[in-house]
Amino acid sequence: MRTITILGATGSIGQNTLDVLSRHPGDFSVYALTAHSQVSAMAELCLTHQPKYAVMGSSQAANDLKEQLSGKVSTVVLHGLEALIEVSQSSDVDTVMAAIVGAAGLKPTLAAIDAGKTVLLANKEALVMSGQLFIDHAQRSGAKILPVDSEHNAIFQCLPEAAQEQVGAMSLNEHGVDYLLLTGSGGPFRDLPVDKLEQQTPKAACNHPNWSMGQKISVDSATMLNKGLEYIEARWLFNCTEPELKVVIHPQSVIHSMVQFTDGSVLAQMGQPDMRTPIAHTLGYPERLKSGVGGLDFATLNELTFRQPDYARYPCLKLAIQACWDGQWATTTLNAANEIAVQAFLDGHIQFTDIAKVCDSVLQNSTPVSADSLEVLFNLDTQSREKASQWVKEYGLC
Ligand code: NAD
Ligand code: MG
Repeated sequence: MRTITILGATGSIGQNTLDVLSRHPGDFSVYALTAHSQVSAMAELCLTHQPKYAVMGSSQAANDLKEQLSGKVSTVVLHGLEALIEVSQSSDVDTVMAAIVGAAGLKPTLAAIDAGKTVLLANKEALVMSGQLFIDHAQRSGAKILPVDSEHNAIFQCLPEAAQEQVGAMSLNEHGVDYLLLTGSGGPFRDLPVDKLEQQTPKAACNHPNWSMGQKISVDSATMLNKGLEYIEARWLFNCTEPELKVVIHPQSVIHSMVQFTDGSVLAQMGQPDMRTPIAHTLGYPERLKSGVGGLDFATLNELTFRQPDYARYPCLKLAIQACWDGQWATTTLNAANEIAVQAFLDGHIQFTDIAKVCDSVLQNSTPVSADSLEVLFNLDTQSREKASQWVKEYGLC
């Protein structure tokens, strides 16, 4: 019986994780579930999965949850960062699903890493924000990182076992890998005339053609900054150099990413676009678990197509690739600026195309610093958010 904490349990990844777990009663026990503010959704999860602990973002949300659970279940309700850290590093837990969205996930995820847990990593922003530091912490503690993000999970599955044992520190070259190919669908606006992008609404941006996901990552997919964050994520997970990492648009999302080997072979991982597959892979690794996802019906797959990303349509992707090789200060800055810009777009304060403008302006107005401690990273994050809020006002609609 393995014991698991799910950070971000009410989210899209959290709920999919619980869906997979519920197919394997007796194999997993849920130690803690966490959520920010969704009290009713959390109450329902607690009644179904009966975790030992539930952690909410505020004392108000925790009190509301206690009220809803009163007399029905023995779950202990806590709140705040200390509690998130506690349920991530508790000696009663062996596996942590890191599925909080954004930089807010970094501290609890690092707590799980420092405690040497098996960390199922969905929260890409944590790795983008802290890069080498995150990997160094994992190496020091011996924590096992298993990538949940579908592209990184696909690449992980295609790599030889010896490389799978060295997440964050492998030499791709030594394992016969020429380069990694990250695939991306191009999002909901991939075929729209570029001059129509400006007027796209949050609802249209969140209407992803292939995947059902949380709001922030859906907008990131429309700008392709999601692919940019994934590019940075891949750089750290697979210890890539620039020539070892490429991005290709694949609108059907059947191939979830590929590995090009030096002998000319290409290995691809395919499947339906359903996050329960990579989640089940990480939960079961090295064994395979039933996920509830059916097979691929090749007879009805019409075509698999590919194209180069166009940076005029996806300026955010270009910014991220540039930031990746500029250094940690740049990726931390970009991540923070993007979180502010995406929220401003979702709130109707800026237009879709302003997201890239805000990110670019913040990066242009930042100076490189040596971002080698958590303190420096969090300062940079705060400053970049402040700058981004100013640029939101500059470009803003109101
Ligand atoms: P979501 O918005 O659906 O859920 C986010 C979860 O985080 C919720 O449980 C929410 O309560 C919690 N949360 C939000 N803000 C918080 C805060 N400040 N403190 C504590 N908890 C907070 O997001 P999602 O789509 O499930 O994505 C989660 C993470 O997984 C993201 O980093 C995303 O990039 C990554 N990811 C998601 C998918 C997907 O298909 N949804 C795929 C790959 C990677
Ligand atoms: Mg992905």
